[in-house]
Amino acid sequence: MLPLDQMSRKDISRIKMIVFDVDGVLVPRGTKIKQVGHTTTLQTKVISKKQIEQIKALNKKGFLINISSGRGLYMLQEMFREILPFVSLTYECGSATWYRGKIYQHINSFERLRKVFPKLQRVADKNKNVKGFEPKEFIITVHCKRKLKEIEKTVKKEKGLTTHWNGEAYDVLITKDQTKALGLKQAMKIFKLRKENVMAIGDNYNDHELLGASGIPISADKSRVKGKFYVSLRGKFLPADKLMQRILELK
Ligand SMILES: [Mg+2]
Repeated sequence: MLPLDQMSRKDISRIKMIVFDVDGVLVPRGTKIKQVGHTTTLQTKVISKKQIEQIKALNKKGFLINISSGRGLYMLQEMFREILPFVSLTYECGSATWYRGKIYQHINSFERLRKVFPKLQRVADKNKNVKGFEPKEFIITVHCKRKLKEIEKTVKKEKGLTTHWNGEAYDVLITKDQTKALGLKQAMKIFKLRKENVMAIGDNYNDHELLGASGIPISADKSRVKGKFYVSLRGKFLPADKLMQRILELK
């Protein structure tokens, strides 16, 4: 892995789309959630003015911008309201893509996830370390104070399902098929792009497949995912900020 300042003009000469993970890349890590009975409270983070301007500048230079997150569409629309005309949103770990008001569904997980949900709910009811379920359409997301063996065991018993722990929550997904790479491959079809036309940046275990499906993978956390280049997590700038600064310097 090379540090970002070694990325050259030649490296990005064929790049047409840049894919950004959200948490830990475009906004600081962490979602605040509280669930009491049937009332769920979520605190939304909004993208900062500076990143809005950078995304607009990239768009002006001709880059397509894709935002790829494990979050739900409603939340991403809220976070990126100001730049919705300039971006496509791939949500719930590659399950679907929103672009200019049109939704492209990439997977149908209904039958596969239907049975495990009540089982997870029973675990959640009994365990004080479970903070709550984040509203999702195609995946299940359970926020927990820490890693919980019971959640992992419950999902493991279901054939073909897997969990991803991101430090604050488990995503429950269809093994291999429901990943951010699926979302990227489908988004590439929408925009008629090839792998070498895509750069992707992510910071977490659920970005592994996404980075692998891109021509230039950028790691925003060397300890969790590998890339051709890496951005350090430390310092006052967010990883996406540093990457956009670099690309705008080069273009
Ligand atoms: Mg992330």
